[in-house]
Amino acid sequence: VFDQQLLHSLIRAIPNWPEPGVTFRDITPLFQSPKGTEMIINTLAERYRERDITHIGALDARGFLVGSPLACKLGLPLVIFRKPGKLPYDVIREEYALEYGSAALEVHTDALKKGDRLLLADDLIATGGTLCAAAKLCRRLGAEPVEATAIIDLPALGGSKRLDSEGIPSFSLCSY
Ligand code: IMP
Repeated sequence: VFDQQLLHSLIRAIPNWPEPGVTFRDITPLFQSPKGTEMIINTLAERYRERDITHIGALDARGFLVGSPLACKLGLPLVIFRKPGKLPYDVIREEYALEYGSAALEVHTDALKKGDRLLLADDLIATGGTLCAAAKLCRRLGAEPVEATAIIDLPALGGSKRLDSEGIPSFSLCSY
C-alpha cells in the first residue's frame, strides 16, 4: 500500500542547491530504499495497468529511475528521451526555455509511431518545460502522450497546470 509518510521521509530537501534560494528535492534516499522504490513503482503500475498504454517514456536522467522499472513491471517498451548528443541513431530535437538560457531533448525517430500511447515519466515537475518538450516529440512522431507522471510536483511553479493546458493530464505521488 502507498504510504505518503514513508515517501516524504525518503525525499531530502537540500537548501541553496544548485544555487542560493533554491531548495533541491533529492530522491536518492528513495532509491536507496528497496521498500520505498517498490512502493512507488507498484503504485504507478496499478494506476497505469488498464489504461491502454503502449509505451513508457522516460526523461533523462532521473526519469530513467522511474520509467525503467515501471516499463519492466508493466511489460511495456521503454522509450528514452535524452539530452542532446547522447542518442546515436537518427533523432528529432525539441528545444525549450529555462529560467536562464535553454535546454533540449531528443528521441530516436524509430522509437515511436502513429497510434502509440505513452505515459511520460520524470522525477519532478517544476515549470513543466521538460515534460512538455517530451510530449511535443511524441506528437511529432504521431504518438499520443496520454499522461505525465512524476514522484514530486512543485505546484507553485505551475508545471502541472501548464501540462494540463497542453492537453496532458499529470499525476504525482507527492507535492511540496
Ligand atoms: P521543469 O522542466 O521546470 O518542470 O523541471 C523539471 C526538471 O528539472 C526535471 O527533469 C527534474 O529532474 C529537474 N529538477 C528541477 N528541480 C528539481 C529538484 O528540486 N529535484 C530534482 N530534480 C529537479
